[in-house]
Formats: sequence, structure tokens, C-alpha cells
Amino acid sequence: MTEPAGNGGEFEGLVAVVTGGASGIGEAVAGELAARGAQVAVLDLKDTEFVCDVTDDTTVRRAITAVAERFGRIDVLVNNAGIGAQGTVADNDDAEWLRVFDLNVVGIARVTRAALPYLRESPHAAIVNTCSIAATAGLQQRALYSASKGAVLALTRAMAADHIREGIRVNCVTPGTVDTPWIGRLLDAAPDPAAERAALSARQPHGRLVGAQEVAQAVAYLASPASGSTVGIELAVDGGMSGLRLRPV
Ligand code: NAD
Repeated sequence: MTEPAGNGGEFEGLVAVVTGGASGIGEAVAGELAARGAQVAVLDLKDTEFVCDVTDDTTVRRAITAVAERFGRIDVLVNNAGIGAQGTVADNDDAEWLRVFDLNVVGIARVTRAALPYLRESPHAAIVNTCSIAATAGLQQRALYSASKGAVLALTRAMAADHIREGIRVNCVTPGTVDTPWIGRLLDAAPDPAAERAALSARQPHGRLVGAQEVAQAVAYLASPASGSTVGIELAVDGGMSGLRLRPV
């Protein structure tokens, strides 16, 4: 659990659940929401009070119930847990396709299903899903991952339509390449990690990787009452990757 700042911030008195909140983007989101006054429950595989595997309905329901018993309410749900997958459509077998979809897509459905009864009681209910530019960009060697994030985008819009009349706003963020332990692991696997990092940074229109904190700020905005009329959108935090076409330097 991340303790709230108690500073009269915009999330004062509200309870937020962040899946995959023990690392990277999720960790930054948990810190940002706590800094803005929320009580934050991190759901993750380990290193947290609320241990849960989003592919296991029993542990999901147990963790959400534990959060509700502990804090008495749930106002914000950030469905952030996700994994990557590399390769073309031919490179991953059926089991891997199902494993990634089970985590990246069905995981959102599981956690949301468990949290909905509590969110319906909140006057400030918001769900933010962590999507990716992979949902729309057509990235090479990312067939399975892109398909799963495309599903997250479609799911976000469908959820937004289904739940807005219950007072629950649903949106997603679409980060570009974010400097998290996940990207660190990919870079470390390259023959020259420093050169690979430099090349990856140079491919971003704004010349650097996106900071996890920058994504966290966007998630906090979509989760906060300040975005009360923003429903069913994807907010790009990608340094311009999704929208710009720059001339080669
Ligand atoms: P990360 O690996 O640093 O953190 C992911 C967290 O999710 C970890 O704490 C991990 O334990 C947790 N997790 C994994 N499987 C889980 C499960 N079954 N149940 C519960 N928790 C689980 O990764 P990150 O880079 O912070 O990515 C977080 C999200 O952001 C993912 O959905 C990813 O697809 C998305 N994203 C990342 C990037 C990027 O460049 N890093 C870009 C776009 C989108």
C-alpha cells in the first residue's frame, strides 16, 4: 500500500487500485495518485500487501475484497498489469497467444468485474486502462502484443459506453516507449545496451524515451474529477510517435 500524502489533494478521501503497481508505469501511477491524496492499493504478483495474479479469478476477487474491506470503498481502478511479446504472427504458438491475451485483455475484464460493485457506489468512479501505441501503430515484430493492445483499446471504448450511465468513466493511456524495467530488460538483452538505448531514443520524435512519471500524470488526469467530461478516449503519451511523420535527419 502507498500511503496518501494527506495534503488535501484532488484524490483526498478516494481509494485507488493499481494492477501491476509494483514496477514501472504502475509504480509511478501508484506514487502519483498517493501524492495527490489517494489511498492506493497495489495489486501485483509480489512485493505488495494485495498479492494477486490477474490471470487467476480467485486471487483477483480475493484481493479486491481485501481492498474494499480495508478501505471501505474503491473509486479508481487502473488496469495496468501487462506483458510484452515479440515476433511475427508465426513466432508465437497458440499457448503463447492465449497466455498474453489472458493477461493483457481478460485480466482487465476480471479485475473490472470484481471492482464494479464498489465503483458503482463511488461519486467519482473512473477506470483507466494502460494500452499502448502498439494498438494502432502497426509495429514490426510485435504481432501478438499489438493485437492484445488493440483489444484493450476496443475494450476501453466498449466499457466506456457500458458504464458511463452508471457514473463510471473509462479511458485509456497509450504510452510510446517508456523507460521502465521492462524496456531495461529488452535493452540489456542487446549486444550493446547503451548503443541500443541511444538508437531507441533517437527513433522517438522528441529524442528520448517517455518517463514513467509522464504516463502517471496522464493516468492521474484521466482518473481525477478534473477530467469529468472525458470518456472513452485514448490519451497518447508517446513523444509524438503515433501522430507525427518526421523527415529523416
Ligand atoms: P513492468 O514489467 O515494469 O511492470 C509490470 C508489472 O505488472 C510488474 O510489477 C509485474 O509484476 C506486474 N504483472 C505482470 N503480470 C502480472 C499478473 N499476471 N498479475 C498481476 N501483476 C502482473 O512493465 P511496464 O513497462 O511498467 O508496463 C506496464 C504496462 O504498460 C503494461 O500493460 C504494458 O503493456 C504497458 N506499456 C508499457 C510500455 C513501455 O514501453 N514500457 C509502453 C506501452 C505500454
